[in-house]
Amino acid sequence: PDPQHTQLYLDGVSVSFDGFRALNNLSLIIMPGEMRAIIGPNGAGKTTMMDVITGKTRPDKGTILFDGDTDLTEMDEADIATLGIGRKFQKPTVFESHTVWDNLDLALAGKRGPFASLFHREGANDDRILSILDTIRLPARRHVLAGSLSHGQKQWLEIGMLLAQEPKLLLVDEPVAGMTDAETAETARLLREIAQTRSVVVVEHDMTFVRDLDVKVTVLHEGSVLSDGSLDHVSADPRVIEVYLGR
Ligand code: ADP
Repeated sequence: PDPQHTQLYLDGVSVSFDGFRALNNLSLIIMPGEMRAIIGPNGAGKTTMMDVITGKTRPDKGTILFDGDTDLTEMDEADIATLGIGRKFQKPTVFESHTVWDNLDLALAGKRGPFASLFHREGANDDRILSILDTIRLPARRHVLAGSLSHGQKQWLEIGMLLAQEPKLLLVDEPVAGMTDAETAETARLLREIAQTRSVVVVEHDMTFVRDLDVKVTVLHEGSVLSDGSLDHVSADPRVIEVYLGR
């Protein structure tokens, strides 16, 4: 597709660490409103891919475009953060000694800048917080301390805090690691809802969860795309079978 119409466009991106190619001519296109699952064995380059998108790591070569025409390739991490790319790391980081409600309130205040809390009007964020609470399945737990949530609920709360920033692209790293089966299934539904209004890239090892997501899958291997398509398609690809089972 024309890069103009894409949400995220990586073309020929390479990254080396001390001569080792973590990303090797990686090309990947995510369309607006698309959710994509990224899988691949350890060391395939999944984390490095997230790092180059968010500017944590600079590519040695290649092009990264966001929103069709914003060139991220030379941009600082802090500048990229203002464009509407949210990243969820694997471990949940919530304010454990604040309530669920206050975590979301703080995240919404953060969106309006460092001085927003000085002018904070009680109740100003209520509608937005209630809406996010519905999305993340936590309306009944809004007054409990975040520290008392289950591991899975903390992951959902952190996703809610990212939603407060209204990202156009959400990058999610292994969201269901450590979750119960019920939480894992609910997370697939939750992310599908979120993806109705933004693009989502999910890095994940749990194939039951990837199947529940029911989206196009890209398999990374040695820093580039080995295969992509439906989960059934990539699971039947001899190159993918070789990489997962052949050693
Ligand atoms: P994945 O997330 O798919 O497991 P990574 O992107 O973490 O893969 O790593 C890809 C390869 O790059 C690995 O072999 C890893 O050891 C190497 N690598 C990643 N980051 C660094 C770094 N900062 N310095 C040196 N090597 C790194």
